[in-house]
Amino acid sequence: MHKYVFMGVQGSGKGTQAKLLEQHLDLAHIGVGDILRWNIKNHTKLAAKIKRILNAGKLVDDEIVEEIVQRRLQEHDWNFGFILDGFPRNANQAAFFLESYDIDAVVHIVVPDEVIKKRVLARRLCEDCGVDFNVIDHRPKIEGRCDICGGKLIRRADDTEEVLANRLAEYHEKTKPVLEIFRRKELVVEVDGTQAVDVVQAEIRKSINII
Ligand code: AMP
Repeated sequence: MHKYVFMGVQGSGKGTQAKLLEQHLDLAHIGVGDILRWNIKNHTKLAAKIKRILNAGKLVDDEIVEEIVQRRLQEHDWNFGFILDGFPRNANQAAFFLESYDIDAVVHIVVPDEVIKKRVLARRLCEDCGVDFNVIDHRPKIEGRCDICGGKLIRRADDTEEVLANRLAEYHEKTKPVLEIFRRKELVVEVDGTQAVDVVQAEIRKSINII
């Protein structure tokens, strides 16, 4: 059983890296941001409340995300383990999580804020299948269209300069204490996320002893 938490500011590549490891080990990938965006797209009861928060780059209430994570983990479709991507994001959520679950490692993908700014403003997302592109270093073959399903590429509503500044501030203020909690338990491995996608993935696997 493999149980990992992936951490890194939005745009650090944590979603991409988590998906690669998930495919390699057949893990369940629990992307809290993806689940929140799914709620907005499908106009669920939660949608109106969380849309404002996401679009402002703030953190959604702990009770909401904790319930999402708990429900998702209770589905027990993770025979080989799971990767939590984007949770926990503050000390409260970390305490809640550690009450019920143990983990093998926290993979922290480190990217300086300046690099994040360049990347995020170039990020595009497929409206249909959710795959990430980047108009600087991962250009789609046909402009504006997804290479995989042909869907329309859009900018995430929260990928603007102003929202990004909020997200970086939230991350540094609230998420760093989470890293400290996990560091005290000697669970954190740090990987330089400015390198090419495959190099980052290789380093992650090496640091958590996966071949
Ligand atoms: P992400 O897709 O991980 O970049 O998350 C997008 C947005 O979803 C964040 O900016 C937050 O508004 C919200 N979000 C994701 N995970 C959490 C969490 N664990 N706690 C609170 N808000 C979250």
